Amino acid sequence: ANEVRHVAITEVLNRSAVDTTEIRPLSEIWACDVFNLDKMEEALSKNAFKAVKKTVQTGEPLDKATADIVAAAMKAWAMEKGAKFFSHVFYPLTNITAEKHDGFIITNADGQAITEFTGSLLIKGEPDGSSFPNGSLRMTNAARGYTAWDPTSPAYIMQTANGATLMIPSVFMSWTGEALDKKIPLLRSNAAMDQAARRVLELMGETDIAPLNASCGPEQEYFLVDQHFAAARPDLLLAGRTLFGAAPAKGQEFDDHYFGAIPERVQVYMQAVEDKLYRLGIPAKTHHNEVAPGQFEIAPYHEAANVAADHQQLVMTVLKATAAEHGFLLLLHEKPFAGINGSGKHVNWSVGNATQGNLLDPGTSPEHNLNFLLFCGAVIRGVHKFGPLLRAVIATASNDHRLGANEAPPAILSVYLGDQLEAVYNDIKAGKIAVSSDGGEMDLGLSQILNFKRDPGDRNRTSPFAFTGNRFEFRAVGSSQSVSGPLVAMNTMLADSLEWVADRLEVQLEAGKSRPEAVAAVLKELMELHGSAVFGGDGYSAEWHEAAVTERGLRNLPTSADALPVFTEPEVIELFEKTGVLSAVELNARYEVYAEQYINSITVEAKLVSELAKTVIYPAALKYSAELAHTFAAVEAVGASFDAAPVKVIVEHANRLMQTVAELGTELERHDFADTAAHMQHFATKVRALMDQARVHADALEAEVDDASWPLPKYREMLFIK
Ligand code: ADP
Ligand code: MG
Repeated sequence: ANEVRHVAITEVLNRSAVDTTEIRPLSEIWACDVFNLDKMEEALSKNAFKAVKKTVQTGEPLDKATADIVAAAMKAWAMEKGAKFFSHVFYPLTNITAEKHDGFIITNADGQAITEFTGSLLIKGEPDGSSFPNGSLRMTNAARGYTAWDPTSPAYIMQTANGATLMIPSVFMSWTGEALDKKIPLLRSNAAMDQAARRVLELMGETDIAPLNASCGPEQEYFLVDQHFAAARPDLLLAGRTLFGAAPAKGQEFDDHYFGAIPERVQVYMQAVEDKLYRLGIPAKTHHNEVAPGQFEIAPYHEAANVAADHQQLVMTVLKATAAEHGFLLLLHEKPFAGINGSGKHVNWSVGNATQGNLLDPGTSPEHNLNFLLFCGAVIRGVHKFGPLLRAVIATASNDHRLGANEAPPAILSVYLGDQLEAVYNDIKAGKIAVSSDGGEMDLGLSQILNFKRDPGDRNRTSPFAFTGNRFEFRAVGSSQSVSGPLVAMNTMLADSLEWVADRLEVQLEAGKSRPEAVAAVLKELMELHGSAVFGGDGYSAEWHEAAVTERGLRNLPTSADALPVFTEPEVIELFEKTGVLSAVELNARYEVYAEQYINSITVEAKLVSELAKTVIYPAALKYSAELAHTFAAVEAVGASFDAAPVKVIVEHANRLMQTVAELGTELERHDFADTAAHMQHFATKVRALMDQARVHADALEAEVDDASWPLPKYREMLFIK
């Protein structure tokens, strides 16, 4: 029998939930490890606090004197809590979080330890950035980039078993000021959106307009697999997904996992995660089972997009670290198991401020409805004009396994509004909404809008981008991704659309139209040009895949190799340059980095396929067929005979597996590509196809070979034994 697999099964069966030693009330732990405004107010003089508060709220740079004062207070607070080190935390173009740790300690001339943390250390750290992907933005001789605190995101303490570190959320840029990270464009996109939104609101007669901010509530799906199983699955450990594995007799067809009882071990794990998140001031709000066995979800309450993005990174970090403490391997991969639902990260997004409120909320008064109609219309235009960009920002090798499969949104970007709201926009387009020319109310339209159902229950699960009552939900985002890219794309396309709306509103108002008339005219034009992105039907259907392209002119970009080159298209470059979010150089650097990541991650998988096929699966097939042949010969010696067919099937699959793997090796050696796009296409088509083919033979072998000697933990074990 296969030792490793059977030991794993026994170990897992003997597991019990980790003991929770202390249960502490929320009030005691909430944000206790965060140096937030409350703590600054306690620690700082009135004037210093006023200065830093302004910076926190507006993102304006901190002056040197205040920075020194804040740094001293921050250090004192952190050291009091046991921190000896501090670290700038930043978000390079990979989806991970990067840290550079430094001690507070220095020694004086007498060799005594003193501690130091000045304002300049706070606002400017110097990680040697040469090993972070930068898309050739920096020559290696000028490899250093620098990090600086983003004061709109509070510093916090990261606790580990034997220490604590002061963590400072930071931007990461080159010495020439180019963005090398995912935070800078997010801040810039919010500023562009603020500026454009302000213009529209002013034209709509608003006078008191507080700064506008995007809000984000990300839902994180994930899988948990016991570490004992994971340890016996090199593919899970190195690629985050199973590259082989026959479908179990029972999958998710009974829908019995979704909202089912959470297994005790997992429940304890979730609570441990949540306590850590609360300490960090992250408002974890819901948790439940997801559709697939072994799949779960956590969703914090929404926050300002920049903070939500930092917090989302922390959620991934905490989920992972805590999983290890509880004997699980956390899988954030979009498709860890074939034939079973994958994981996404629904990004709930809205924009608003303290004075006008949420502008994607229809509200209850006529003025709010006009603002709402304009903002929602601007989103429709954005999805239509920049759908391919939305596809590009979710393009990763891993998310390709999920998009377009019959479980996840299609790779065609359309927008779902719900029946009633869709009808309102169609009526506007058809000129059916009457507006009295004396500037009175939009009678027909208003009553429709006021009454439209806000129950999020009627939403269409097959849409990649859906209006859900007071926000849009971008559902095609991958579970392992940073939410920054999607947020940047949404904010930026909205900024562009709001500028477009403002230009036209201005013309209408100057021509003497009333505001409701002007809004109706602008939205009519908008719907005529961009209404084809609105789709309320079944996004999974074959008809839609056909009609979206042929009748609506939407683009279907099935793979990342198709989608990533969108970053190099003139319209997209213009969008980012015009809004000041990314220069052409910065954008191109992103294209290069993401393309490289795509190629690298498939390369790793392809090598693993080859290695596992040759060193694990083929030997298992060989051994078992030898055993059979031996037995058959022995049986023949006594004058009886077994049918030899099963051995022939095994031999056939084993041979074809090895042939496929040999071909895969040859294709991986190829480097003669005209450009990056062609290189990616090679991986999307040739390499992936061979990996799939290898899997067919390997999985067929799994179904033939003696269960007792099969070396890799099986799907039924990984998914169902908890
Ligand atoms: P569901 O699974 O039904 O989509 P969840 O409750 O799991 O809903 O998640 C919804 C997410 O949307 C939460 O993070 C919630 O805070 C967030 N959300 C709610 N309202 C807004 C809003 N106006 N803007 C952004 N996010 C929002
Ligand atoms: Mg959900």
